[in-house]
Parts: sequence; C-alpha cells; structure tokens
Amino acid sequence: MSERVIPLIDQRLINTVARIPTTPVAPTGLLGDALGRPLRDLRISVTDRCNFRCSYCMPKEIFDKDYAYLPHSSLLSFEEITRVARQFVAHGVQKIRLTGGEPLLRKNLEILIEQLAALRTTEGQPLDITLTTNGSLLKRKAAALKAAGLQRVTVSLDGLDDTIFRAMNDVDFPVADVLEGIEAAQAAGLGPIKVNMVVKRGTNDHEILPMAAHFRHTKVVLRFIEYMDVGATNGWRMDEVLPSAEVVQRIHRELPLVQLGAAAPGETAERWGYADGSGEIGVISSVTQAFCSDCNRARLSTEGQLYLCLFASQGHDLRPIIRGGATDEQLAGAIAGIWQGRSDRYSELRASLPPDASTGTRRVEMSYIGG
Ligand code: SAM
Ligand code: SF4
Ligand code: SF4
Repeated sequence: MSERVIPLIDQRLINTVARIPTTPVAPTGLLGDALGRPLRDLRISVTDRCNFRCSYCMPKEIFDKDYAYLPHSSLLSFEEITRVARQFVAHGVQKIRLTGGEPLLRKNLEILIEQLAALRTTEGQPLDITLTTNGSLLKRKAAALKAAGLQRVTVSLDGLDDTIFRAMNDVDFPVADVLEGIEAAQAAGLGPIKVNMVVKRGTNDHEILPMAAHFRHTKVVLRFIEYMDVGATNGWRMDEVLPSAEVVQRIHRELPLVQLGAAAPGETAERWGYADGSGEIGVISSVTQAFCSDCNRARLSTEGQLYLCLFASQGHDLRPIIRGGATDEQLAGAIAGIWQGRSDRYSELRASLPPDASTGTRRVEMSYIGG
C-alpha cells in the first residue's frame, strides 16, 4: 500500500470570519455569484459524526477513537440553523438537503425538519426538503421524518454483495438492513427515493449490474457516483475512478438505455431511462465531466461555516454573526457578500491545479460539510 501524507493542519481552524457589509443588501431571491450562478440549493450538515467508516469518506485510520469531533457547544442549534436557512431562502434557495456525517444520528432531527418545512420560497412555495443517509437508522425513523415534513430521501448503498458492502462501510453493517430502511422509506411515502452508489474500480464495480437489475421496476432511482478526490484523508487515486461513461456502457450492453433530459438546471446527475420503461438511473460524473458552470449549491457546516464548493479548503465563519447579536438583515447581507464573491469551479480546474501537498492547502472533509 502506498504511504499517505496527511497534512497536520485542521482546516476547521483556518476559516475566514464572515463580514457584515456596511451597505445593507436586501434579499431579492436573485442573488448571483461572480460567475453569474444563482443560489438555489443549500446543504446543511447536522453532524460530523457517523456510525460507518466508508474508506472513501471516513477512513478508520484517521477517524478513530482519538479523532477530535466537534464539541456539542460548537454545533448550531436547530433555531440557529433555521434562522440561517431563512436568509438563504430569501436569497433564492429552493431546496434544502440535510446531510452529515450521518444526519440521522442528530437527536430530534424531526424538530429541525418541522421548522424548515414551515419556510416558504420567495414565490411562496414550500421548499424541497430532502436528506442523504446511509440508511442504517431509516427503518426506525422513516415514518417520523415523513410526518415532520421531509419529502424525499437519498440512501447510500455501494453494492448488494454483503461481504463487499460490509467491507466498504468498514463497520460490518449488513446490506439487508439498508434494504429494509429503503422499504420503510417507500412505505412512509418518502419518494421518489434515490440510491447513491459510489463506484470504486476494483472494489465494487462488479456490483453495477446487480444493483441496476435490483432497482429496476421499483421506482427507486439508482445513481452511480464517480469516486471523488474530496477531503485529504481517503488516499484517492485516479485509477480507482470508473468513468460514468463506462458505467452507462456496461449497463446499456445488458439493459438498453436511452438518455433523458435534465430534471432541473444545476442538477448534478445525467439521467438515463431503461428503453423498456422499467425505471431510471443517473450518473454523477464529478471527476470526468465537470458541472461547475451551473453549480448553485452552498454548504453549511454543523458549526456554521459556509462553504462555496465541495472541494474548498476554507469556509466563511457565520457563527460570530449568528451569535453576536446581528440582525437578520445583517446576516442576509453577510451571506450575500460571500456568495457574490464566489468563483469556485474546482472540477473544471482539477487537471490544471497543483497537488495540495505542494501548496500546503487541505481540502475540507466530506463528513464535515456533507455531500
Ligand atoms: N452519511 C450519509 C450517507 O452516506 O449518505 C450522508 C453524508 S455522505 C458524506 C453523502 C454522500 O457522499 C454519500 O452518498 C456518499 O456515498 C458520498 N461520498 C462520500 N465520500 C465520497 C467520495 N470520496 N466520492 C464520492 N462520493 C462520496
Ligand atoms: Fe458515513 Fe456517509 Fe461518510 Fe459513509 S459516506 S462514512 S456513511 S458520512
Ligand atoms: Fe460546484 Fe465545486 Fe463541485 Fe464545481 S467542484 S460542481 S463548483 S461543488
């Protein structure tokens, strides 16, 4: 195994403090960044902890019993999260995804969902509220999540072969329990359900076809995600990435596919349907096909750091504003200033950027800002 070099800087300590602009910026729902991209999608991480140790996200060697997770006092309360989310919605956000870590580990999450479900877009519409989960607690929580106002869930599942899956989650968690969670979510009406499968060449790529066959005829949309170079700890290598084009080819050879149009601007997945009408799949090609040009996503960490890109190494600390007695207008102004300055497009630039190790930067972990 090649040796991993892990920089010792903790990126949570090097964020910039968000500033309140001197001239107020009234939210109009039409905020654009420096490249003209609107703000439509807010991903909120509700915990940096997880009960899985997927090697591509929270490798056991790093996220061990000595790892310094955020202390409880650092976490934004549900009221603080809802207050921030309200300002994002005023700037044009229409969709909120709760994530983590494992979001279902956050106690009483239903209360947060209820609060977020009461928000309305600038057009007076309810938000599209969804959640990404590893499915381990879904069977127990699906009905309560639905009752609180959650509309949909995305469940991560990297294969149907129990041995492979137990090895990938690295805590020996069985496939059957995740499948039961998906069924419970379907029964609770949390659909259309999406299932995310991260594909690692040589690890679980032989699971592509069994997964496709399993979820046809179920109304579940299976999405294949290219293994990404997020964070600084997963030992990512390009030769372990299986390009989405190959995923589509492999399925198409056995189960003919036709390409479908994009569901909404800024959608990350390219959609394909089975030619016989038996379902839909998606591919998310963050490595081989950049989709930064219409990226409308902001990410809020569990402790109130705003990140403008999944591959960012610095966030913008909103906590001093949230906790410092600022008004909602001032908070909205600070968010506007940050988004207006955004020019991130990491995936488009990936090939031309120097390696992090040579620049001393360290990308934030996905378990910290969510997917
Ligand atoms: N714990 C939840 C879960 O696994 O669904 C939510 C958080 S997880 C960080 C969100 C998504 O990111 C999951 O679908 C996961 O598979 C994906 N993910 C994590 N690390 C990844 C990587 N290196 N490349 C591609 N996707 C990754
Ligand atoms: Fe946990 Fe999700 Fe990361 Fe796996 S991908 S370690 S389930 S946060
Ligand atoms: Fe958006 Fe950053 Fe991903 Fe590009 S690399 S699509 S800017 S999150």
